Amino acid sequence: MERSDNMKNKNIKGLIALVLLIFFIIGAHSVYKNKLVSSNDQKKVDNKSNVKSDKKNQTNIKKVEHVKDREFTGKNIKYNSQSIPILYYHSIDYEKGNELRVPKERFREQMKYLKDNGYTTLTLNELYNFLAYNKPVPNKSVVITLDDGYKDNYENAFPVLKEFGFKATVFMITSSINNEKDFLTSSELKQMDSYGMDIESHTVNHDKLDRLTYDKQIQTLKDSKEFLEKLLNKKVKYIAYPYGKWNENAIKALKAEGYSMAFTTAETSYEKSIDFIKKFVICLKYINTLIRKSKILRIKNINLI
Ligand SMILES: [Zn+2]
Repeated sequence: MERSDNMKNKNIKGLIALVLLIFFIIGAHSVYKNKLVSSNDQKKVDNKSNVKSDKKNQTNIKKVEHVKDREFTGKNIKYNSQSIPILYYHSIDYEKGNELRVPKERFREQMKYLKDNGYTTLTLNELYNFLAYNKPVPNKSVVITLDDGYKDNYENAFPVLKEFGFKATVFMITSSINNEKDFLTSSELKQMDSYGMDIESHTVNHDKLDRLTYDKQIQTLKDSKEFLEKLLNKKVKYIAYPYGKWNENAIKALKAEGYSMAFTTAETSYEKSIDFIKKFVICLKYINTLIRKSKILRIKNINLI
């Protein structure tokens, strides 16, 4: 799989002049008002290999102390009637003519902006607790996500995140682990996990869930989850839908496999998924929507390429 081809071939549609999109997550009370608006997911993966277990790594698993959820108190906190921006990255690298990538220097500028402006990066557990249980988070909270699991996430993004003491989530295509040279290896994933990065599912083969039968959906959700859980010795509960695609069956399958929260980039109403995540809805927005509606307008400045 040539990622450059894949990334070029996709996703040159109108609104997506931005590499970095921002999702918005809206609290429970505004569930019915919100719509999903976001981008294509730009990576294609051939529907071929299944997850192969990495025996070496599985036998060498050490108990990892995963990051504990923090309790946020004091004045500068907010509850889930307010939103949290989710930054949405893929590859952190430069490629001429590919505006879907964020070069390392630009990524660093963006992280520096967040740091200088007092932002706290939340883990997905903290995000979930905020949404589902209304646990407060700092007013200036943000969630950083990277889809697909490119090797440059380790080589370029990870050092920057560490430099600023930030956490992020990688939604990983599990069939690529140790199989595709441009993607993260199990060793890299373990290092990132040990630091406190969230490694979560992006299915086995970057599957379009809405095109799969229920049984196939179950298979990819189960296999990707189990692979990461064995590798990292932690619970995997979250997923980003490849291409933002999902359907009713996918939601049933996610429930059946023990997922708690799913992220989409597709332009669609989220009302259908209320039965999945009953207490809240995830609303994703383009940065240009954010500019109009968000209070944190300056975020836009760091997202433009
Ligand atoms: Zn993807």
